[in-house]
Amino acid sequence: MRTDVVIAGAGPAGLMLACELATAGVETVLLEREAARPAFCRGFNLNARSLDVLDRRGIADRFINEGLKVPVSFFGLPAPLDIGQLDWDHPYTLGIPQTRVEEILEERAVELGVDVRRGEEIRTFEQDEDGVTVNDSIRAKYLVGCDGSRSVVRRIAGIGFPGTETTRYVMFGDVEADIALGKHEGGVLVIPRTGYVRVAVADPVLNRAEPITLEILQSTVDEALGRHVELANPRWVTRFGNAVRQAERYRSGRVLLAGDAAHIHPPAGAQGVNLAIADAMNLGWKLAAAVQGWATPELLDTYHSERHAAGARVLMHTQAQALLGGDSVGPLRELFVELSELDGVGKYLAELVTGVETCYPMGEFTSHAWLGRMAPDVAVAVDGRPTSVARLLRSGRGVLLDFGVADHPPLDRIDVIRAEPLDDVPVGALLLRPDGHVAWLMTRDGRLEPGPLADALSRWFGLVPA
Ligand SMILES: Cc1cc2nc3c(=O)[nH]c(=O)nc-3n(C[C@H](O)[C@H](O)[C@H](O)COP(=O)(O)OP(=O)(O)OC[C@H]3O[C@@H](n4cnc5c(N)ncnc54)[C@H](O)[C@@H]3O)c2cc1C
Repeated sequence: MRTDVVIAGAGPAGLMLACELATAGVETVLLEREAARPAFCRGFNLNARSLDVLDRRGIADRFINEGLKVPVSFFGLPAPLDIGQLDWDHPYTLGIPQTRVEEILEERAVELGVDVRRGEEIRTFEQDEDGVTVNDSIRAKYLVGCDGSRSVVRRIAGIGFPGTETTRYVMFGDVEADIALGKHEGGVLVIPRTGYVRVAVADPVLNRAEPITLEILQSTVDEALGRHVELANPRWVTRFGNAVRQAERYRSGRVLLAGDAAHIHPPAGAQGVNLAIADAMNLGWKLAAAVQGWATPELLDTYHSERHAAGARVLMHTQAQALLGGDSVGPLRELFVELSELDGVGKYLAELVTGVETCYPMGEFTSHAWLGRMAPDVAVAVDGRPTSVARLLRSGRGVLLDFGVADHPPLDRIDVIRAEPLDDVPVGALLLRPDGHVAWLMTRDGRLEPGPLADALSRWFGLVPA
């Protein structure tokens, strides 16, 4: 059979990417090795930036309606971050099981027409100049490996995965515990979940091959606490190492990587699902442009340059959070707490751990705070009807948004919209990429950043003005 794109893996990265491609009208086959979603649940949150992203496709409420809003925190610090009066669209973290996130994304992908095939794994592929042949039976223009940390796609593509080896493991157990444990006691972290708790404790053995059982978890927890705590009815018992790795390239010809296939890091700070969604949002429209033939030769490579840099930041701060949550850094934590209470530092850390800080390079001589960042969800009126920037992006197309400073003729591929700002905006016009990031702007006093609009239209949308 023939299709535009094959995605390997129906985790958050693969599902979000499938939704993005389908929104752009790209035919997509999603192959998932497992016939059914696992009974256990790994992650438990969506951060502010993931909610912003989902909002720009009109589906954030499907998640928000089911989740629990909790304050933004930096793992290892005893209290949530003091973020003051944040001007974010979603100034909180949403507690929601990863399994539910995946179910909702999969429902959406199917609604949009994605061919999701469970119980089918990618075993082989070969790429040539025109496409990729997967499992000797599917011919596609591109293949994306969203197949997790041990990615087969990454291995067959020969993409290196440099980084550091695991030097210690943490045991995780989703169990019923017959005790009202504090959040962190004697090196045992207990996270409340609905109907059970997640217990995490340092694994004294550096041996991944040794299977973890409830008995091993039980004795390790008892030893760490210095008393017996009954752990029962395990839903999931596992170990997680502190290895940190990042693919040296996110693209090799017609093969790309996203999510855990492109990076692994400690679970401290709960980043993986969110990073997977952010990768997919960045890649989706660029890959669609390549499939549809209007991408400039460089566009798809900006996926690597933009997301590798963003991923490296996450690798850095998840390691920092893991260290800060350790036993032997008491004085450092004390100092970090003092620093985090300084004016603006809580907000800085919150923007770091949620990815709200993410700013893609748009040009050398730029100064406007909005350029390269995701445009805030400003309220606007179009033809007298109230709407907002996030709503205008729901089609998945780019938007040239003009606040009455110039008359722009209609353009292919992007929506040219004249709007009246209902909030105070520091710009006269904006060019938004389909992922919501500001690619060009005109300030209210007429300055153009990063340069002429025509250059930005050509760079991001392959448009050559008449
Ligand atoms: C204990 C623990 C706690 C965590 N807590 C959090 C948290 O609170 N918040 C958070 O954001 N993240 C958390 N994470 C991380 C998060 O679970 C991952 O980062 C996230 O699942 C990555 O998504 P992904 O789509 O890249 O990969 P995955 O979710 O791993 O999905 C990959 C998919 O590919 C499939 N697959 C593999 N090989 C093939 C193949 N050859 N062919 C077809 N399909 C294949 C797999 O079956 C799987 O479904 C946690 C992880 C762990 C282990």
